[in-house]
Amino acid sequence: MARELSSLLGAEQVLVPDGESPYDRDASARRGLVGRAEAVVLPGSAEQVAALVGWCYEHDVPIVPRGGGTGLAGGAVPSEGSVVCSLERLRGVRELEPGLWRMCVEAGVTTRHVQRLARENGLFFAPDPGAADQAQIGGNVATNAGGPHALKYGVTGAWVAGLEAVLAPGELVALGGWIRKDVAGYDLKDLLIGSEGTLGIITAVRLRLLPAPEARVTTVVFFASREDGCAAALNLLAGGLQPSVLDFLDGGTLSIVAAAYPPSRASGVDGPRGEEAGVPQGAAFALIVEVDGSEAECAAQRAEAMELLGEAPVAVHEPLEQAALWRWRDGFNPAVTGMRGAKVSGDVVVPIELLPEALMRFGEIAAGHDLPSCAWGHAGEGNVHATVLVDPSLESELDAAEEVMGELYGLVADLGGSIAGEHGVGLIKRGQLARQWTPRAVELHEQIKRLFDPKDLLNPGKKLAR
Ligand SMILES: Cc1cc2nc3c(=O)[nH]c(=O)nc-3n(C[C@H](O)[C@H](O)[C@H](O)COP(=O)(O)OP(=O)(O)OC[C@H]3O[C@@H](n4cnc5c(N)ncnc54)[C@H](O)[C@@H]3O)c2cc1C
Repeated sequence: MARELSSLLGAEQVLVPDGESPYDRDASARRGLVGRAEAVVLPGSAEQVAALVGWCYEHDVPIVPRGGGTGLAGGAVPSEGSVVCSLERLRGVRELEPGLWRMCVEAGVTTRHVQRLARENGLFFAPDPGAADQAQIGGNVATNAGGPHALKYGVTGAWVAGLEAVLAPGELVALGGWIRKDVAGYDLKDLLIGSEGTLGIITAVRLRLLPAPEARVTTVVFFASREDGCAAALNLLAGGLQPSVLDFLDGGTLSIVAAAYPPSRASGVDGPRGEEAGVPQGAAFALIVEVDGSEAECAAQRAEAMELLGEAPVAVHEPLEQAALWRWRDGFNPAVTGMRGAKVSGDVVVPIELLPEALMRFGEIAAGHDLPSCAWGHAGEGNVHATVLVDPSLESELDAAEEVMGELYGLVADLGGSIAGEHGVGLIKRGQLARQWTPRAVELHEQIKRLFDPKDLLNPGKKLAR
């Protein structure tokens, strides 16, 4: 295989792993998901991706697209006998048109680079998933990644005007484009968005951008209970506020990350006042509320938020430095992981009005398996990173954690939610979609896969509905 691929694409584009390789795993490896690729191909152009897919299709070889390998669902973990197609060398910026608020980049450009290019041109690329330094825009599109700002700005797919992709049996196609309206056909571009490498390999992305907001103001609001905090989040939205971020931390998360809380000041209607303060005594839930816009709009929204919050909070804080607050927010994951050596998380969604019930029932499920738990996420979207803390040396705890996740998926289906809000289905959640969809919808899901990939060679075994 390696010899044929080398003569097709050039020896410098083909790696044959000798033993363990970083391409065998993604960020889900701590949940025991490690595969083994027969060969790793690093195409240097979209045409080479097409040639590779053509060869794999002709020879019945499974092909696993890979971006930055930051996926948390095992989507990029290679199946037996497969070829990994890593997009890391497709790093070209094909178009950058600040006046038209748009850019076209190749799939291997990192999320951070897209954000930086937009910023350097006075613009703003709204999606802000974590792991931005390693994750690639192709991977973001393939998982339809979200982030804190998705509440106001939507997930990655909302900013994709068009895609270039290789479809089976090896054809390079363009879907969508720069036109601002198009209702002519079924939206094939949208089918590829979030398809986790199971329908085609994305080689370039046309992205819409926005003028950068002039200002952002972030406040941290502490509550005595989960119920108070969730009610306040609903109240902010019902009152007409459109925050750019409305994230939450439950009591368990708060106690783990309190020590790293950045210097902040108590805040009132008119802005920060009072002494520097840490996480207040008695706080058992917190919301991170960010508003953006012009300076005047931010001040008005802030005042509106304070009014809507009323007497509900234990305290309202404004960080002395907003960047420090976001560094703190980015640190939740490692801080929680460090508590007992590992964590197992389920990224799920529930209707926002059912968030307190979902959090309570998740805590009960974890306690029923004798595992400590915590949760944080995007309150404005009901998107929860439901987490149990485990000792990775104890097989029994790892097994119990997987049982907790299984029960969690049942719970969200029961509440009318979704088993995946950000990280996709990959291998970890395969078979779970059927819990939340009707049999006919599941059947259509499977038929779409067969239509795009009749030989089941594109990332086989991933994103399975049942
Ligand atoms: C610390 C941390 C924080 C994270 N925070 C967030 C977050 O806030 N929001 C969020 O949504 N996710 C988050 N994630 C998950 C992950 O970063 C995202 O899913 C990201 O979009 C994956 O991109 P990647 O390039 O690393 O893709 P990979 O992990 O390499 O692949 C992910 C899936 O996409 C497919 N794929 C990759 N590239 C292509 C391509 N060019 N064409 C077709 N298929 C392709 C792969 O086959 C696989 O199924 C986080 C992960 C970590 C480790």
